[in-house]
Order: sequence, then C-alpha cells, then structure tokens
Amino acid sequence: MSRSQRVAATVTAADPGYDQARRIWNERFDCRPLAVLYPADVAEVAGAVRAARDDGVPFRIRSGGHNVEGFSVLDDGYVIDLSRLTGVTVDDDRTRGTVAAGTLLGDVYSGLWAAGVTIPAGVCPDIRIGGHVLGGGVGMLVRSRGMLVDSLVGLTMVDADGEVLEVNDDTHPDLMWACRGGGGGNFGVATSYTFHTRPIGDVTLVTAAWNFDNAITALDRWQHWAVEVDQRVNARFSLFSPGTGGGRMAVLFEGTSAEWESLARPLFEQCPPAEHTVRETAYINSVGQFSQRVPSIRAKFVPALAAGPLDAEALKILERHHRAAPDGVKTSFYGLGGAVLGADLAKRSAFAHRDALFCVEYLGHWHGAEHDAEQLGWLAGIRDELRPFMTGGAYVNSPDRDLTDWLHAYYGASLPRLMEVKRRYDPEDVFRFEQSIPVSLSPAAARAAGLTEAVVADLGARGLLTS
Ligand SMILES: Cc1cc2nc3c(=O)[nH]c(=O)nc-3n(C[C@H](O)[C@H](O)[C@H](O)COP(=O)(O)OP(=O)(O)OC[C@H]3O[C@@H](n4cnc5c(N)ncnc54)[C@H](O)[C@@H]3O)c2cc1C
Repeated sequence: MSRSQRVAATVTAADPGYDQARRIWNERFDCRPLAVLYPADVAEVAGAVRAARDDGVPFRIRSGGHNVEGFSVLDDGYVIDLSRLTGVTVDDDRTRGTVAAGTLLGDVYSGLWAAGVTIPAGVCPDIRIGGHVLGGGVGMLVRSRGMLVDSLVGLTMVDADGEVLEVNDDTHPDLMWACRGGGGGNFGVATSYTFHTRPIGDVTLVTAAWNFDNAITALDRWQHWAVEVDQRVNARFSLFSPGTGGGRMAVLFEGTSAEWESLARPLFEQCPPAEHTVRETAYINSVGQFSQRVPSIRAKFVPALAAGPLDAEALKILERHHRAAPDGVKTSFYGLGGAVLGADLAKRSAFAHRDALFCVEYLGHWHGAEHDAEQLGWLAGIRDELRPFMTGGAYVNSPDRDLTDWLHAYYGASLPRLMEVKRRYDPEDVFRFEQSIPVSLSPAAARAAGLTEAVVADLGARGLLTS
C-alpha cells in the first residue's frame, strides 16, 4: 500500500483478525478484500481514499456492513471501514446534532435522547449511520416526522480527490440535494452528518397479531386505515408464513394511550386481533423493539413501493404466496404519507418516491446455503407476480441485484440531476460499485434500464448520453 498517506490501521489476510474484518452482516457475500482500512479520523479517511487511488486499487466504503446486497465489500480491493469514527454531539439549543459516520444507530438514539431530542431514522440499532442516511432513512417516526434525509442539514464528505468538503445547502447545494436520497457509496465518503433535531418524550407503543386465516383481512383493513389515520401514528404491518405467525402490526404513536384507543377503534372493531398490547413509555424504550437483532445471517430484501392500498386481486396473490411460504420470509408494509409528503421536501431531496403510500419489502432470513434456492425462489416469485400492482419504484437502501431497471426504480426523474452531480464530484467514477450512479449512459443502456422518454430526453439535454 502507498506510503505517501497518513496510514489507517490496516488488516490484511496475513493478520489474525482478517476473517472478522472481511465479514459483513449478510453471510451470502463472502469476499476477500486485499485489505480492510480502519481510519481513526477524517485525515485518515482522506489518506485511505488517496492511497487506493495511488495504488490503482478499487475500494468500497463500509460503515455498518448492513447493505443487504453486499455493496460495502469486494474481492481484491480495499474496504475503507468507518466504524472507528463514532460519537454524537448536540448543540446547546438542542436543535442540531452531529453524528460521526461510524456510530451505531442505537448509540445515535441514546446520545440524542440524553439531550431530550431525536431524529427519524431506521429501526435496527446495529446499522451504522454512515450507510443509512444517504438513501433516505425510513423508520418508526417516518409518518409523523418524515424521512431521515428531511432532517439532514449538512455533512462532512471526503471526495474522490481526498479533499474534505463541508456540504450544506449554501456550500454545495447540488451535492447536498443528491445526499438526500441518492444512496450510499456514490459521491464520496461521509465522515459525519448534522441533523435538525426535535424534542421527544413519551410515546405509545402498540403491537397486534392476527392468526394466519384472518391476516389478509386484517391487512386489507389496516392499509385503508393506515393512510387515513392521524399523522402521529407510525405503523408497520408484516405478513408471515403460516408456520411462523400470521399478521403482525407494530405502531409507534406520538400521543397517549387514551388517544390511541379511539384512533384504533375503526381498525380493531372490524377485525379484532388475537393478541394486542399497548404501552405508554419513554421513546428511548422503543429502540430495538421493531427489529430482531441478529449478528449475521443469510438474507435478501426485495424492495417495492405501493401507491395506495392493494386491491383484492393483489391481496389474493399475497395470500397464496404466503400460504406456501418457507419459514423465515415475510412481507412488510411501512405506512408513508404524512410528513413524507410535501412539494418543498421533493425539491430539496433526490428521493424520488414521495407519492408512494407504502414502502413494501419482501424479506428472507435464513441459515445455511442449502436453503438459498428455496428462499430466493420464493422472493422472486412474489416480487414478479405482485410487480403489476406496485409503482415500479424501489427504495435504494434495500437494493436488489436482480433488478434490471434499478436506475429507473431507485431514482426515477431524479436520475439526470444525480448523474450531473456524480460527474461533477466524481468524474473518473472512483466511487463505483455494482449499482452505482454512472457518469454517462449509452442510449442502449438507457433503454435497457427502463428509463422513461422524459428522463432520456433530460439526460440528452444535460449531455449525459454517450453517442
Ligand atoms: C437488519 C437491517 C435492518 C434495516 N432496517 C432499516 C430501517 O429500519 N430503515 C431503513 O431505511 N433502512 C433499513 N435497513 C437498510 C439500511 O438503511 C441500509 O442497509 C444501510 O445502508 C446500512 O448502513 P450500514 O452503514 O450499516 O451499511 P454499509 O453496508 O456499511 O453501507 C451501505 C451502503 O452505503 C455506503 N456507505 C457506507 N458508509 C458510507 C459513508 N460513510 N459514506 C458514504 N457511503 C457509505 C456503502 O458503500 C454501501 O453502498 C436495514 C438493513 C438491515 C440489514
């Protein structure tokens, strides 16, 4: 490795910690990098980027290693791992918090809670914030407080030349826009994020479960209720296999349990759950309640978005697939709308799916490569059959290597501007991975990517199509 840079702690195949260092959360991706670099500060991050470029070695950025399609690791390259950059600070007036990129989400929540504030980030405390923010950030405050990028006011980023940029709406407005939804790994290495923070205190946590035979009816009622109900209700519905449960709802309500009872009545009266819990508690006690914590596993998450409630035909397809589902799979619906909507927010961010009312994921978790075919086959089957009922969009934080139209699915009409930002800040395409934003596209590639005519015309007008 180049000696010209300040050297980050490095683990190679010759070191005893290599097998631990090369691993990521999803065991399906078993890569052997040349080296894993652990910078301890921003200068070492810059040194690591320059070293990779001096050495002519491809590299990936990794914070928590939870990218489900393994984009934060590679064979025969460097992994720049941000996990040593940790910490949370809150300004005296408690309206802003700054978080180092390697901080675990659980530590972000507790650091902010100590000041009585929070941000609307995701549900898994073991994700690190570094790779989570840039794609959008959807969690159990999404409907009441918006997506995480809607609270993002600035970040520190190391660019492709190893320069340190302070990015905000004044200094680098286009890059700031792109960092609100453009996805991790595309433009530079984020070393810290600054968020607008807001006070939070007690909340009401709710769970409800229906047995499998009632689960589709419950989901049907739920999806209509979830788009209408008070915006302070943040709700998720998950459908399992008959062997592992039926339907389960989780709610974080920013109100009291007494208020909840009346809001829930229209849902529960029509379709009473078999089990139901309601608990008013300090917000911090909700952290970790909405995700199962597994250190590592084989997994695939297949993303989709629904414009509104699914019709009877789609629900029948969903039920048929789940009746035959292997253990370990589920379909989850996060209610959006509410604070996610807003013309201003759409202008301020690259996130292209504000109109979707449900963020849908078909998820598989399993142990042992011998189950890959069964799990992956089930996920592909349900995705393909339900595709006509979805928007065609996909949430980039849950990427899918099997999508051929991923540029269209992740970015929609935001793609041309994102490519322009990519070309400006990373013209040599140094930050490149299997599904990174390209600096240009051939007309044939644009067609193959399923881009709309309007997007292709916009690419042409911006000079982003090759001849
Ligand atoms: C169990 C689990 C639960 C999840 N729950 C949620 C959820 O509730 N809500 C939600 O919105 N998403 C959720 N996700 C998706 C999650 O947001 C993404 O997986 C996220 O990218 C993980 O961040 P990471 O740093 O752990 O991952 P990594 O794999 O380290 O990084 C993810 C991507 O971002 C890039 N990247 C990493 N660090 C940086 C950085 N510092 N600067 C620039 N690029 C970087 C990587 O190269 C990679 O492409 C979940 C994923 C898992 C596996």
